[in-house]
Amino acid sequence: MNDSLLALTLAFEFAAQKHIDQRRKGLRAEPYLNHLAEVAGLLARASGGRDPVLVIAGLLHDTVEDTATTAAELEQEFGAEVAALVLEVTDDKTLAKSERKHRQVTTAPHKSARARLIKIADKTSNLRAVALSPPEGWSVARRLDYFNWARQVVAGCRGLNPDLEAWFDQAFREGMARLGEEGGGAGGEPG
Ligand code: ZN
Repeated sequence: MNDSLLALTLAFEFAAQKHIDQRRKGLRAEPYLNHLAEVAGLLARASGGRDPVLVIAGLLHDTVEDTATTAAELEQEFGAEVAALVLEVTDDKTLAKSERKHRQVTTAPHKSARARLIKIADKTSNLRAVALSPPEGWSVARRLDYFNWARQVVAGCRGLNPDLEAWFDQAFREGMARLGEEGGGAGGEPG
């Protein structure tokens, strides 16, 4: 087993353990690990398997934000590069949610290339989830708001990987079509 495959496998195991009690907020309540696997899969395909650090950080991207994991722990297990990358895509949870969402839009263009790729993959996975298995109680309008916000974040992440952007755009298009149907034809692009 080479070093990259070893690190990737350990990251998968680490993420599974850290998120063990967590599920997606959607109606299907998918295991959270499904989201992480999807993000890592998008990044692996987009990079042609040539950037293990990117894929590993993709697997770990929600550990600091959503579990008790610390940056020091990530650095010890996976190195400074992975730890820094995860922190770059971690929201400051001391801020109000509206401010965190606003900052995702304004800070995206200033982030590193890898961080921007993780953002696009994360938002692609989330759009699919909000379209197909939305959190309970989310109206079509709220789901459209989410789509519009995600598109604003991704707008600041473009110019790096046409494939990944195309997959986001496809998730956006297909999700909007579905929301249009669910909204009784009152779809169209928000904002
Ligand atoms: Zn995520």
